Amino acid sequence: MTHRILILGGTTEARQLAGKLAARADVSITLSLAGRTESPVAQGVPVRSGGFGGARGLAAYLREAGTDLLVDATHPYAARISANAAEAARQAGVPIMALRRPGWERVAGDRWTQVDTVAGAVTALGLTPRRVFLALGRQEVAAFEAASQHHYLIRSVDPVEPRLAVPDATYLLARGPFREADERALLESHRIDTVVSKNSGGEATYGKIAAARALGIEVVMIRRPALPDVASAETVEALAAMVDHLFEPAAERGV
Ligand code: NAP
Repeated sequence: MTHRILILGGTTEARQLAGKLAARADVSITLSLAGRTESPVAQGVPVRSGGFGGARGLAAYLREAGTDLLVDATHPYAARISANAAEAARQAGVPIMALRRPGWERVAGDRWTQVDTVAGAVTALGLTPRRVFLALGRQEVAAFEAASQHHYLIRSVDPVEPRLAVPDATYLLARGPFREADERALLESHRIDTVVSKNSGGEATYGKIAAARALGIEVVMIRRPALPDVASAETVEALAAMVDHLFEPAAERGV
């Protein structure tokens, strides 16, 4: 019997999970991407791309594809698709599991100012001009046009188009992971005094947080959005173990 699994992805962990689960002989994996990144990295499993049309669209997809399990392995700040996934799974009667990497914890030496939204981060920069590193998605950086007195260093995977209507911005194109030593060199060479970041968690983008700490630089940290309450695991291995358990024949579980 083949179990059909739909993984909502767009993260490194989703790709790793897909690769790990694909090694099982009894599953068929489809990885779903939003289709925002112009040249996404190769995923190694069958991929579908683009939105489903809300929770109802996703529920219809789950029924039509005969999906046996939905895995939400999207980024912790992708709150809409996570809410849609929980609702669609309920509507379609399909089990759902979420892969939720833990957020970073503040440690001694960190100078974090925590805010709830991107708009809150813009306000937290204040009126006095600063030299700000924006390590955010290209959709989010537009909000900083409201504070055009600052210098911005903006790093994104795809080009920020249109460019921000601010007089002083530098653009970098790069895809993680980013090492602490390289992040430190970047912050120093651009004389950055403030980093604006999401609390993404994981190793791949922690380098800038550690580098900011080492340099005594303030981090304006945007808190995580609320996510639906579904069965979840923090690591790829733990989520894969939950999948094993779900698809284990009842006899082997001693049921
Ligand atoms: P979002 O605001 O939660 O979702 C917006 C809409 O995009 C959803 O309603 C859905 O459209 C579509 N969508 C999102 N993820 C999808 C997926 N994996 N497969 C199919 N459709 C998807 O999401 P977002 O914050 O824009 O993030 C988009 C993608 O980028 C996600 O896959 C996420 O994992 C990845 N990502 C996000 C961040 C971040 O900081 N937000 C960072 C790194 C990677 P419909 O309603 O039409 O189905």
